[in-house]
Amino acid sequence: MDANISVCLTFDFDALSLWIGGFRAGSLSAISRGEFGRVGAMRLLDMLKHWSVPSTWFVPGHSAETFPQVVERLVAEGHEIGNHGYLHTHPKSPEDEEHILVHGNEVLTRMTGRRPVGFRSPGAGLSENMVGLLVKHGFEYDSSLMGDDFTPYYMRIGDRAPEDGPYVFGKPTNVVEIPFTWGLDDFPAFEYVTSRGGIQQGLASPNAVYDIWAGDFDYLYDRIGEGIYTLTMHPQVIGRGHRLLMLERLVDHIRTHRRVKFTTMSAVASAWKQAHPPGA
Ligand SMILES: [Zn+2]
Repeated sequence: MDANISVCLTFDFDALSLWIGGFRAGSLSAISRGEFGRVGAMRLLDMLKHWSVPSTWFVPGHSAETFPQVVERLVAEGHEIGNHGYLHTHPKSPEDEEHILVHGNEVLTRMTGRRPVGFRSPGAGLSENMVGLLVKHGFEYDSSLMGDDFTPYYMRIGDRAPEDGPYVFGKPTNVVEIPFTWGLDDFPAFEYVTSRGGIQQGLASPNAVYDIWAGDFDYLYDRIGEGIYTLTMHPQVIGRGHRLLMLERLVDHIRTHRRVKFTTMSAVASAWKQAHPPGA
């Protein structure tokens, strides 16, 4: 079969915001893990330049303002930048949620000269309210849900989960969902985290992760032949040496295949939307 695969390398540049906002960390040791995100980002940008492949970065406003030199390189080197909130927090109210979304947009638009068209929910905590906000603020796509793997779909509004009957699917919006999955995300596999919720062991062997990531790509290529392969990575996680070598090996593996194209999420969203007009 002649495959037709789009590969999206996506990077959530959480940096310090994950530890300060997401985990409410107090120690400098924990916070400095986010500082390493700058080191990882620079290494990744060098690799992407060497491969000449575009990628998509979801950047919290806090990371953009803390590390403007990373944002400058992203823009100069042609990578897409999407909205990832401001401080990687879970909003306290619907008003707070909108404020964070708009604040993230303001920071990124000011720094890049371009309004983001894509959104990824910090920590994959997308709320129903956020779907409405993405529609209201004119977003083209989201990448926070897991309702499919290699095939985009339209986000829905008004889903209901009654306890005495089947799940009720709401109405499709015009915002494209490009699904992600924790299995193709570096954070749970590699990061050792202790929190009030328990311990996330992480620290997986890169070979074990390679098997999962390459396994999904091979299944898509060999058995389905058409679709979007999305990796979700964090510069502070994938940026460690042994993991970068694994990523290099994976990209080399992917590049041996015909009719595979590395592209951005916004390019995928607009091509998919054109082929599947909303309401059709
Ligand atoms: Zn994040």
